[in-house]
Amino acid sequence: MKKQYRSYEQTCEFLKECVRRYPSLISLESLGKTWENRDIILAKVTLHVEHADLKPALLYTGTIHAREWIGNELGVSFIEYLLGHYDTNPMVLEVLTKNTLYIVPCLNPDGFEYSRKHFSFWRKNRRNNGDGTFGVDLNRNFSVGFQKVTDTSSNVYSGPAPFSEPETQAIKAFVDAHENITIALDYHSQGNVFFPAHKFNHEAEIEGTDLNTLCANMNYHIRKATGRKYGIHRGKPPKKLISGSGREYYYSKGIIATVVEVGTRNIPDFMQNMRESIHENIPALLYALSEAHNYSTNAPRRPENFLLQHKTSQEVTLAWEYPCKKDIYFQLFRNTENKEACNESSLVGVTKNHHFTDIELSSGTNYFYYIRAVDNITGVKSAFAPKMRVQTLLDSTEFHRTIFPTPSDVGYTAEFTKEQNRAHFGRNSLFIGINETKGISYGVIDFKLDTLPQNAIIKEAYLSLYPLNRVNAKIEKFGEWSVSLIDRESVGDITDFDHISQSTVIQTIGTTMPSETLTQGIWSHWKFNEYERRLLETQLQTHNALLLKISGPTKLPLGRDSQMMMFDLGYGNFGGGIHYRPNLFIKYTLPSQSLQIPVNAIATVSLDYTKNHQLSCGFDKENQKIYGYMEFSLDTLPAPDQTVITGAYISIKSRNRTRSKEDIRYNVEFVDIEELSCENIKVRERIEFIGYEVSRADLQKNKCHHFIFDSYSLQSLEEMHQKGQKSKFIIKPTSAIVKNHLVTWDENVTLTVEYIPRRKSPPPMATDLKVSNEGGKIKLTWTNPKEEGFVGVYVVRNRFHPPTNPSDGDKLYAGKDNYTYDTFGTPQIAKYFAIFSYDDVPNYSEPLRGEWHI
Ligand SMILES: [Zn+2]
Repeated sequence: MKKQYRSYEQTCEFLKECVRRYPSLISLESLGKTWENRDIILAKVTLHVEHADLKPALLYTGTIHAREWIGNELGVSFIEYLLGHYDTNPMVLEVLTKNTLYIVPCLNPDGFEYSRKHFSFWRKNRRNNGDGTFGVDLNRNFSVGFQKVTDTSSNVYSGPAPFSEPETQAIKAFVDAHENITIALDYHSQGNVFFPAHKFNHEAEIEGTDLNTLCANMNYHIRKATGRKYGIHRGKPPKKLISGSGREYYYSKGIIATVVEVGTRNIPDFMQNMRESIHENIPALLYALSEAHNYSTNAPRRPENFLLQHKTSQEVTLAWEYPCKKDIYFQLFRNTENKEACNESSLVGVTKNHHFTDIELSSGTNYFYYIRAVDNITGVKSAFAPKMRVQTLLDSTEFHRTIFPTPSDVGYTAEFTKEQNRAHFGRNSLFIGINETKGISYGVIDFKLDTLPQNAIIKEAYLSLYPLNRVNAKIEKFGEWSVSLIDRESVGDITDFDHISQSTVIQTIGTTMPSETLTQGIWSHWKFNEYERRLLETQLQTHNALLLKISGPTKLPLGRDSQMMMFDLGYGNFGGGIHYRPNLFIKYTLPSQSLQIPVNAIATVSLDYTKNHQLSCGFDKENQKIYGYMEFSLDTLPAPDQTVITGAYISIKSRNRTRSKEDIRYNVEFVDIEELSCENIKVRERIEFIGYEVSRADLQKNKCHHFIFDSYSLQSLEEMHQKGQKSKFIIKPTSAIVKNHLVTWDENVTLTVEYIPRRKSPPPMATDLKVSNEGGKIKLTWTNPKEEGFVGVYVVRNRFHPPTNPSDGDKLYAGKDNYTYDTFGTPQIAKYFAIFSYDDVPNYSEPLRGEWHI
């Protein structure tokens, strides 16, 4: 059946027909007239529509830009879906019972019709500017951040004054009169990305987590429908924020507002693309509508001071504040990536307590935690507290590095820009893929690995790139982006296109990424598998560097001119700052070193005697036990605060071979006794058995026997080392009725200790933090500790609370300097800072805290 885009008239006819068929579910009103005298139609959709204004509401606006037809088409389809399913799908009925949908499928009817009939790329409305030009960009005509544009022919001409246009006046009047609106979604094309609202500064906002989470949860439904993942582009300073847009006006009224850019072309092939866009966005819209009442005045308040209380390598304890209310419980969500869904898929805790411990986590891993309160009676949920980011501690044997390339070692090299390729390094962005002007283009990154020891055993590694495609970069649903490890012997000059193009690929790293999951504003990762980690070790040993080539599609279908992804380099015009540089995360350990410690003292102890220099055990004539005693000094191990013991065993050889048939078994105990005597041994405090008991037959078969320490014994051994104490052991027979039996052991007993040189505690904190205003920028200065193991400081900013750990907020700086600037921040906003000093593991110190008051 032929299905095509609806005209504005057909849209209005359709809506009127809906009212005739479902009068209790939908009503229409005209918000006003356009320049060309068309009605700007708004539909209200809810159960018992006469009470629509009494319920919390979501505002949907579409096609404010004339050529972006998806807004109208999706709006109409969503209404059709709701009306068609309210009596068959209980979820739809529930959503429409509690929430109202206000929907303006087309906010720019004149422009839309002009785009349909005359000029498909028309964007503005149809005001006669009186100088031979037409149209105002309605999405630059709102008041927040309004900027006057003098060129009336410009596509972004903002109009003579804020709200000069009938369309913007109409929607403003409606929004101002409807305080029940809690969420606003403005549908545009193109880019497959959410652009949540901003407050025109680059500081975190209390609603920031709500905005990102709303989009992430919508994204969850989109992904379920078509496998596509939209970008969420907030929390990063764009070069220029959009002025005078509807989104910012709605946000200024306290509404959770976002733009949704759908699809990859303004007017796509209906059958191929538009149908898919609609299909994936309807479940997302239904979800968003269900959230409207969670942001209403009936909702519980959001939890406050959501903080990290304690962390280890496997556990995280979080705490928060909330007034005592018996019907409130809390939902806790955990993700390992930023901007992921907070729903059933990530719910890790439900509790009435004001604290929560998450267990069995991975070491040295970033986790993002979220919390909201839920009213147990009404089911209404609160807004989210600002997210809490935590990196778990490393295991005692682990190290990590995040490696950034130097500017001259990262860039792109393209087929048609051979003369300029050298200049693409260290500047602007990484353009990867293909388009008409650049041809095929590869990204190249040469990571220097000289901060890693050559014998590192790599436990985890991944490459991270920050996709930055602009709206005008049309990433269609074809092609894959992949990362390859290349043989540097096959490349003369990394900036030369032919060299890179013809280089020898050793291995493709991680999984290739299809275009529909490369998302603007969300990091992409390529993770090394075990085989690839071994290759990385080889590169480390042979070149002390890792050369990567990043490839996208190399062919364009008929009629397409670009399939190019821009990744951030952190530098240049589009760069978001150094935190968005490509980076390589590596978690590693080192091979253990081994030290054989000869026994310090041995003895044989019975009730009757203590014989030094002899190691025997057995039973005396009364069947009383005779004990062997061994004592080791750990002094020959390196300094305890720089040594992690990873393994240990005691080696003992039996000397005499008795032929007796009794089943006697022997075991070794790690003991804590003050002075050597039979009495003390009898009342000894056992730390732990070492290994399993061995039989005499075992000992006769294997002349030398190893008693291997378990993890608790290793920990005790490390404590002895730390305290400078000797470690003491006894060997004894296990119970048997035997008299006059003695086994003698060789006196060359050894304790073998395996260990890794690694610092255990962080360097001392920095001191003397001063926060000042220098020329309109906040400057932080401090004094670094003078300790030898000090490597640098990590400086973090948090708008809401003093940072509790290095991941808790925006990183401002990491390195050896003793000052930094809050580059993107503003002195007009109060905030907290913390400085953590770190060593080469890294272990981080407690925070040195500072505040900025206004
Ligand atoms: Zn638009």
